[in-house]
Amino acid sequence: MSRSILAIHAHPDDESSKGAGTVARYTDDGVHAVLVTATGGEAGDILNPAMEHPDIAANLARIRQRELEDAAHIIGYDEVIMLGYRDSGMPDSDDNRRADAFCNQPHDEVLERLVTIVRAQQPDVVLGYDDHEFYPHPDHLFVHRLSLDVFAAASDPRRFPDAGAPWQVSRLFAPVFTIERIVTLHEAMLARLGTSPYERWIERITESEEPDRLIVKVDVTGYVERGRDALRAHRTQIDPDGFWFMAPTELVEEVYPWEDFELLATSGEGALADGDLFAGIP
Ligand SMILES: [Zn+2]
Repeated sequence: MSRSILAIHAHPDDESSKGAGTVARYTDDGVHAVLVTATGGEAGDILNPAMEHPDIAANLARIRQRELEDAAHIIGYDEVIMLGYRDSGMPDSDDNRRADAFCNQPHDEVLERLVTIVRAQQPDVVLGYDDHEFYPHPDHLFVHRLSLDVFAAASDPRRFPDAGAPWQVSRLFAPVFTIERIVTLHEAMLARLGTSPYERWIERITESEEPDRLIVKVDVTGYVERGRDALRAHRTQIDPDGFWFMAPTELVEEVYPWEDFELLATSGEGALADGDLFAGIP
């Protein structure tokens, strides 16, 4: 049976840092994959010291689009749809207050575009965002709200009747970093290498408990490096010697070879099971 997955992300590079190994694995298995990216990442700083150059800064939106296409190709996406909104920048920044910023767009206008895409693509599984307690970027929070709303609206014939025939998405998940994942990698890094890039995350999460949420783990053994290749394709954003690559791939695959997905919504059909986002979908 042909399966399909549609991922909604806020910025170019989010598709590579959140759940990329899982999507890569599914595309290798023949799952049709569509990437929707809301903004062009125009407010992103150049975070790779090797790419700090005036020409690059002046053409950042165009360069980031190219990087996104390269990353999507590495992951195996069949199609990339850019919504073309402007990156809203970090909370309380000037980018945030611009009229053309994604976070300032009318909710129902953006939702209708997403409903149109979902009804046309007919995905079984949609990936969106959780409530981003630890990373309150306005674009991520907007994608969180929109992903819940598109799940409900796409199947409702009373909503957006001109946006195509209603389609029931079976499952809505959000790729998440669980406390279990961060603590496991942190402790393994300290034990093996005497240093850990997760120190600041650990400080933030020791105050909190794992939220009460349903997590599905997908085994990405053999796919961690492909996710990292996709991240490295975002040459202006990702320092190849930086945070994302400090835990060696072999260590990750040995101690925590999974990506974690929080179930945000389900059509109610079939039983969920660990290991497969599509488990139980008729
Ligand atoms: Zn982002």
